[in-house]
Amino acid sequence: MAKCVMVLYPDPLDGYPPKYARESIPVIECYPDGSSLPSPSVIDFRPGELLGCVSGALGLRKFFADGGHELVVTADKEGPHSEFEHHLSDADIVISQPFWPAYLTKDRFARAPKLKLALTAGIGSDHVDLDEARARGVTVAEETYSNSISVAEHTVMQILALVRNFVPAHRWAATGGWNIADCVARAYDIEGMDVGVIAAGRIGRAVLERLRPFGVRLHYFDVHRLPAEVESDLGVTYHPDVESLAASVDVASIHSPLIAQTHHMFNDKLLKSMRRGSYIVNTARAQETDQKAIVAALESGHLAGYAGDVWYPQPPSPDHPWRTMPNNAMTPHVSGTSLSAQARYAAGTREILEDWFAGRPIRSEYLIVEGGRFAGTGAVSYQQ
Ligand code: NAD
Repeated sequence: MAKCVMVLYPDPLDGYPPKYARESIPVIECYPDGSSLPSPSVIDFRPGELLGCVSGALGLRKFFADGGHELVVTADKEGPHSEFEHHLSDADIVISQPFWPAYLTKDRFARAPKLKLALTAGIGSDHVDLDEARARGVTVAEETYSNSISVAEHTVMQILALVRNFVPAHRWAATGGWNIADCVARAYDIEGMDVGVIAAGRIGRAVLERLRPFGVRLHYFDVHRLPAEVESDLGVTYHPDVESLAASVDVASIHSPLIAQTHHMFNDKLLKSMRRGSYIVNTARAQETDQKAIVAALESGHLAGYAGDVWYPQPPSPDHPWRTMPNNAMTPHVSGTSLSAQARYAAGTREILEDWFAGRPIRSEYLIVEGGRFAGTGAVSYQQ
């Protein structure tokens, strides 16, 4: 028998379950690279249900009960008196989502002597101290590809929202106005612009593919260069470093993992090297940009807009400056947790748990850390 602590975001204010807008979600046959979708033996939820909140429990309550395991599901994750901390001391498994991250710091690892498996329901395990996980032999895994297209779609939406000045225009419409000049005084077409991604992994490449028909000039920087035929198909220009990319684009979209090299990558110096009136969208991790430098660049008008869905910490305080900085189109961390994405990462979480309990190997593409070293996707994305 194992004990699992699952940290999920709170239920909707109007109660659970919500009234769903649609009856079902489309069936996706495979991921864009041909790899198969999560394949647990069975699922105990209807795809399209809200699974990522406490009552949803990733559709795993029956799975844990049938296995005779103890499951604690909570949203209470901050501070030494939180339910999360209380249950850490005898937890074998921690499951958390990047949208409502249970930060597994070195201190918390020290208070979790039985911990063997840290699962991210979604993608991006930087809320786990990966060095400590390696030192303690804790396996870290996530559901690679489960929400990559979800994030790419959100990114394209936010690029368009910024450049076309959607948020203020919607505000005028919703508040009874018809102030066309006020709406369009900052509205442009992206056609003809230079748009670049930092990292062309699963999400970055999907963003490039989705933007190609908009008639923009595409750019990218990645530490791993795409094959020549892919670059040529996309018509994308490669930059050997982020400085070269930043100076060459009107819109920069960040899709790199948060590691030492990308921490505060968009600092004051890099922002000043960008064209006046540039836009940044960040759906990767907040700390890849310098929070204060972003605010200053928006206030001075050097940046024309900033959007994204990643903040630090999460949830941010009510007076976090990114809530009110000028010309922002921020959302809470939602891009990767659409109902469509939840169905995939909940099934993937179950697949990983089934394999782990049965002593079978976890799919290599799901692995971040195993046996004291980076493994699978972790060896590509997080190895420095
Ligand atoms: P991926 O592993 O497919 O791609 C990561 C890419 O980053 C790889 O191509 C790698 O070569 C590149 N890279 C690594 N180090 C780099 C560096 N120093 N500079 C530039 N490029 C570098 O990952 P993905 O699925 O595309 O996800 C990317 C990131 O997006 C994740 O690490 C996560 O933080 C974030 N994410 C956010 C959400 C969300 O809901 N907002 C959801 C999923 C993932």
